[in-house]
Amino acid sequence: MPVPKRKRSKARRDSRFANKGMEVKSFATCSNCQEPSLPHQACHSCGFYKGRKVVVTKMDRALKRHEVRAAAVQKQQPIDTTAQSSSGSAE
Ligand SMILES: [Zn+2]
Repeated sequence: MPVPKRKRSKARRDSRFANKGMEVKSFATCSNCQEPSLPHQACHSCGFYKGRKVVVTKMDRALKRHEVRAAAVQKQQPIDTTAQSSSGSAE
């Protein structure tokens, strides 16, 4: 009859039961984006709570960053075109 070679450590044994006590918690639906969210907490996907924006989400930061970069590019482009045209005329 096969026998285990080594004693199974407590950590390895106990990790088997680590998720045993988990149960499905109640959840609400976001009124703004209809994503499932925890009750009495701001929505994680859109940052709304009670119909009001209360949290700046990762997506908001990404959009703002994109706008800032686009504005910076628009500011730099006229300078670049003049620099290219001047260099072109010099050549
Ligand atoms: Zn939401």
